Amino acid sequence: MKLQELCNQANNCNQCPLNESRTHTVFGEGPENAKIMLIGEAPGRNEDETGRPFIGSSGKLLSELIQDAGMDRSQIYITSIVKCRPENNRKPRKAEYSTCIRLFLKKQIEIINPDIIGLLGNSAIYALIGESNIKKIHGQTYQVDGRKYMALFHPAAALYSRKLLPQLKEDMLKLKKNIDHN
Ligand code: SF4
Repeated sequence: MKLQELCNQANNCNQCPLNESRTHTVFGEGPENAKIMLIGEAPGRNEDETGRPFIGSSGKLLSELIQDAGMDRSQIYITSIVKCRPENNRKPRKAEYSTCIRLFLKKQIEIINPDIIGLLGNSAIYALIGESNIKKIHGQTYQVDGRKYMALFHPAAALYSRKLLPQLKEDMLKLKKNIDHN
């Protein structure tokens, strides 16, 4: 299956309650052969309005961090654990993200087959690798089901607490080193 076919399915998906609160499905963006995938929590207001991932203030910071690490955002595939915006930006519920991961994210990962997957923030980290203490585990890599993951702070957390920014910059460099050494 191609990404576009999967994207078309997500656009018409009503398999969890989040379909009721969305304006647009935010499937993901980036090349089908990206070496790095970045996965966040959920679309926010700007993303829901446009159908594009990470385009608000945290998306702008994410683009800067990617560039500062010597990469180009256009080389990276960016998505979230749920493709539809939860109302009032609440956290996605387990039943919602489990369904969306099974129907879409796992298949996106299979198709793209990245060298490493950066998990942005606690929700994505917990949903994909079952870890929860981001302050302890950020910057670490994990092998789960034959895939390599790295835990990173969510850029929104660095906007809220600027002291996290240097750590996020450092972790983004570590993420890049993983593909440099392949
Ligand atoms: S969040 Fe995922 S599973 Fe839920 S309706 Fe949207 S595309 Fe379907």
